[in-house]
Amino acid sequence: MRILVFSDIHANLPALEAVLENAGDFDAAWCLGDLVGYGPNPNEVIERVRSLPNLICLLGNHDAAAIGMLDIENFNFEARQSILWVQNYLSTESSQFLKSLPEKLVTDEVTLAHGSPRSPIWEYILDAYSAWENLDHFSTPFCFVGHTHLPIGFHISPDAQPMNWFLPSITTPHAMIPRMILNPGSVGQPRDHNPRAAYAIYDTEQHIWSAHRVEYDVRLTQEHIRLAGLPPRHADRLAGGW
Ligand code: ZN
Repeated sequence: MRILVFSDIHANLPALEAVLENAGDFDAAWCLGDLVGYGPNPNEVIERVRSLPNLICLLGNHDAAAIGMLDIENFNFEARQSILWVQNYLSTESSQFLKSLPEKLVTDEVTLAHGSPRSPIWEYILDAYSAWENLDHFSTPFCFVGHTHLPIGFHISPDAQPMNWFLPSITTPHAMIPRMILNPGSVGQPRDHNPRAAYAIYDTEQHIWSAHRVEYDVRLTQEHIRLAGLPPRHADRLAGGW
């Protein structure tokens, strides 16, 4: 099976559409959470994600805040503004969908969580140490997470303590080795100074992880953020990918 793995769309519809077009045919879609927050198209993004084949979708911290499951005091000022905005804007159908999402899911081979298997909604796996600490919290060969908005992978290696990390190449697919933790990066708000939308394809037979980046109409999303009255910083950052 060819599975689309993506995360942190953050209500950026042009970025999501570009990813779906670029990904070609896939047998299943695994979304690692944060469909909403920051961006201007939460309902449209939810509707589009729901239309994808064999969907697995997880709850992210912004999704949880949008439906009142998380205290917005936990977010910084500008993130809070966009959560208050989305709370007003979300349709009943969209909130019902978000309310139905699990925090963590385990398939035959993969444990899926927005942040980490140890603390699915909140923890950021940003470095080898936090990746290593999470090894005790999943028993499947692989673990997929989002939340940091950075495409990255971690694996056990005798040469590196506590774990090795790598930035997945977009030209050479990576062979997946057991106990690998992989992050596809963010569709709608990349933070690695590369503004192109990020996603990955997981080949379940060959155990290959292919990282991808795709250009989208950043200006269109920026314009909609400004028109919606959302914080201008949410628009500015998209051009530089930060
Ligand atoms: Zn996010």
